Amino acid sequence: MNYLQYNIFYWHHSERTGLARCRNCSQFSFFLKVNHNGLCDKCVPIIENIVLSCARIMKESLNFLNKSEDLQTRLTYCNLLFKNALRLEEYEKKGIQTIKPHPSIFIEECQKIKKELHHVSLKEERIS
Ligand SMILES: [Zn+2]
Repeated sequence: MNYLQYNIFYWHHSERTGLARCRNCSQFSFFLKVNHNGLCDKCVPIIENIVLSCARIMKESLNFLNKSEDLQTRLTYCNLLFKNALRLEEYEKKGIQTIKPHPSIFIEECQKIKKELHHVSLKEERIS
């Protein structure tokens, strides 16, 4: 899995006013300011924190997943990566940008890796 170099979406505050709805909390008003990611002022820092922390864990997990030869270790980090990608996928479903490649890509990849690891572990059991 070669996604070690992915981009974290950049939250600068290019605000847009007018009739707007926040993509996260669904607040809707004529006076609401949302940024270019469709988020209101309250949601921007909250989501930024969550995304940065999930992305950091994902990066570390990917690193261990790619480096490790041990089946159990790889499975552990694959699950950790999966869990954090799922968390970010909630935002993807709401149309909020978080990381690129999108979280759903990581989820697909994790599912493939899990299948692979499962096959390998079956083979190893047969050998031993
Ligand atoms: Zn909001």
